Amino acid sequence: MQPDRLLSADDLAIGYASRSVGRDLNLELQAGEVFCLLGPNGCGKTTLFKTLLGLLPAQGGTVRLRGTDIAALSRAEIARTLAYVPQMQSSAFPFTAEEIVLMGRVIHRPAFASPSKEDRAIARHALERLGIGALAERDVTRLSGGQRQLVGIARALAQQAALIVMDEPTASLDFGNQARVLAEIRHLAAQGVGILLSTHDPDHAFALASRVALMKNGAIVAQGNVADVMQQERLEDIYNVPVCLANLPNGQKICAPDFAAMRPQR
Ligand code: ADP
Repeated sequence: MQPDRLLSADDLAIGYASRSVGRDLNLELQAGEVFCLLGPNGCGKTTLFKTLLGLLPAQGGTVRLRGTDIAALSRAEIARTLAYVPQMQSSAFPFTAEEIVLMGRVIHRPAFASPSKEDRAIARHALERLGIGALAERDVTRLSGGQRQLVGIARALAQQAALIVMDEPTASLDFGNQARVLAEIRHLAAQGVGILLSTHDPDHAFALASRVALMKNGAIVAQGNVADVMQQERLEDIYNVPVCLANLPNGQKICAPDFAAMRPQR
């Protein structure tokens, strides 16, 4: 195994007891890279993530976390390497934002021990990094969906895991908060953290990704570096709409639907 390979899937088959969702899935994630998974609704991104996280058993093939079959690891062992930011952040209980972020520190202290001064400093710092330090004492059940999403990302930061898996981390965020979270993801990768994320926005892959995989009907139809994979025809194929790709003056690439080429649907 390469020493900096954090996560790998070999010939993975994914799905539920009642149905198969995908097969022959291969990918790997190295330290310090952002790997973006794109694909239309229902193609199997969440099912793949749950399987990669060890939350759903693989129907075939193997997921390895730092070279060890994830099926052989306990939840605590997985959490020492991997933090997960699910799509919907919800809490039935009125914890404060800081208490939620402190939950990311649980694996770093003995069972039943109270958070240390250091844990609290790390939690506060994670909230500050996402621009939500002012929400620390607020009851999360009274925050907006977007604010809760930022709290969930702060919890993953506080966990200080080598690998963070994020399922559409910017889905409920406004334009400014999306940019802040994307910038934070770039910063984390530059510090050596491996990031695997799904997104519905090709621009996020252009802005962030070291590598990208396009998924359709449970299969990875293309995988590799952004310039090779994020081609107009491929994006049109997976999303089934005409698109335009363009370069901004700063060199950043963007993607937009080509409305002029779209016929009204009847
Ligand atoms: P995506 O995240 O790409 O939108 P999902 O992984 O959520 O896609 O879903 C892939 C397929 O699996 C869909 O057809 C969906 O209906 C199905 N599916 C999702 N959850 C379950 C479940 N718990 N049991 C059976 N089928 C499911």
